[in-house]
Amino acid sequence: MQDVLNISGRAGFVRRFVPVFSLFLGIVVVSLLLALGALEVLSAARAYVGGEGLWSKAQRDAVYSLTLYAQTREPAYYARFQKALAIPLSDNRARIEMDKPDFDYAKAYAGLLGGGNHPDDIPGMIRLYRCCAEYSYFKRAVSIWKEGDTYIARLRQLGGDLRAEISSDRPSERRVEAILNQVRAVDAGVKPLEDAFTATLGETVRWLKTVLAWALSAAILLMIALGVYLATRVLAQARRTEDNYRLLADAFAHTADGIMILDNKRRIVTVNHAFTTITGHAPEEVVGLMFARPQSVKIPGPTIHAVWEDVRSAGRWEGEIWNVRKDGEVYPMRLNLSAVYDRRSGTVDHYVGVFNDISPHKAHEERLKHLATHDLLTGLPNRTEFERFCHEAIARARRQARRVALLYIDLDKFKPINDTYGHVVGDELLQTIGARMKQVIRETDIVARIGGDEFSVLLGDVDDITHAYIVACKLLDMLSQPVASKRGTLTIGGSIGISIYPDDGRDPQLLLRLADAAMYRVKQSGRNGVSFHAAPAGLRLKPDRSFVSDR
Ligand code: GH3
Ligand code: MG
Repeated sequence: MQDVLNISGRAGFVRRFVPVFSLFLGIVVVSLLLALGALEVLSAARAYVGGEGLWSKAQRDAVYSLTLYAQTREPAYYARFQKALAIPLSDNRARIEMDKPDFDYAKAYAGLLGGGNHPDDIPGMIRLYRCCAEYSYFKRAVSIWKEGDTYIARLRQLGGDLRAEISSDRPSERRVEAILNQVRAVDAGVKPLEDAFTATLGETVRWLKTVLAWALSAAILLMIALGVYLATRVLAQARRTEDNYRLLADAFAHTADGIMILDNKRRIVTVNHAFTTITGHAPEEVVGLMFARPQSVKIPGPTIHAVWEDVRSAGRWEGEIWNVRKDGEVYPMRLNLSAVYDRRSGTVDHYVGVFNDISPHKAHEERLKHLATHDLLTGLPNRTEFERFCHEAIARARRQARRVALLYIDLDKFKPINDTYGHVVGDELLQTIGARMKQVIRETDIVARIGGDEFSVLLGDVDDITHAYIVACKLLDMLSQPVASKRGTLTIGGSIGISIYPDDGRDPQLLLRLADAAMYRVKQSGRNGVSFHAAPAGLRLKPDRSFVSDR
């Protein structure tokens, strides 16, 4: 999976392609070196061919000058002979120097320079001689050169012999002619060597050309193959990357969670389809804007500012936050907002917010909570919830030094209604009575159903205990009102017991018990009446109400 989504795997890409690139580069470098080397060899070979031309010309010059010297006896011709011979002799010195393992470069250079070679060609000639004198074609050329040098040495010697003869007191014509014949023989012997030398170097150049052509062709073919391979790999990689992007784009577009991507200035860059579904805002309405909520609406929960503070300090924020839909509806959402950092600089590159609408979840939670705290039949708070309200009311009354009254109401002779008309009618009666009780008390007071036909009322803010008595009387009046049912009009009554915080006790359960006990006394004294756990002195009772008091 990680590989599938690795769309920014530049490292992987480089790792995969570095060997191929290196091979490609290696081939290019080797081909270049090969071409340069071949050029060097070709240029040096050409220089040797040129040098050979000078060598042969000098040799022919020497033979010609010596012949003229023999005929004219003019010393100038002998000097010309010596001058001409100096060229091959200089080449010879260079060759002998280059044959030495620890050769003197300067001497070899001077030798080749004396042979009439161009100074620019000489370094190449020396390199070629030093590296290739032992190999193949060049070895053959060198051996021809060496043989040629023996003829030059012979010519030099014959020149010396001729000069000695001519300079003697009585030069012998026969002897001079004999020397000249030997000179001619040398000349005839050198000619084929010159041809062979040139031909060998020519062969070297042709061989080199062929080798170079093959090597370069092979290198080019290899480079083409590598290029094709590389292109295929790059294309395949590009296709994979494109597929991965499409996959991510699909996931982004079709996920049920709302997603928004914000730039590092907290402006929305892009949102997905679910964002629009949840918020009601189309992308073009929010792109470029800050992620914010309308100031005009009073929104519970954490502020956007607090959320951003957390993202700034911890890099992310996760929790429930309230937002406002386009139509103005306030809804809860679960948001996960994370900063995404630039790998190199470590600064925030952008933010990613993923959220979902949790209002259905919240409603369900509320329903469950309601079921746990309310009576199913009447919808009134149940005993547990009533006790919780009592705790809260007592805590408030304690702070404000006020009283709280608890009224415990049990319907009189309810059972016979069940028995006579059935449970359904009894249930409806309980529902009607519950609803009517709520109408009798203030909105801030609480009425609960705490048992079968037992109800409780919490009066949270009681200054005068008489007020509790008045409410109890109103409840009895209400209870005595006839109730219409499918089976005819029903009448019922009730008995009410009252306990007061803090006069009778400080604990809700105790107060409830005391009110129950007070109610029980009313039952015993004939029902349809009110009783205080401890009736306040001087309480003025309604004349038509039965009132039971311990005092
Ligand atoms: P008393 O005057 O002494 O209060 O007697 P009562 O007939 O009202 O009977 P009591 O208070 O002792 O018992 C309450 C009766 O209410 C018992 C039961 O049959 C009935 N009851 C309890 N819960 C329900 C209910 O949810 N629906 C209906 N229809 N009846 C219930
Ligand atoms: Mg009853």
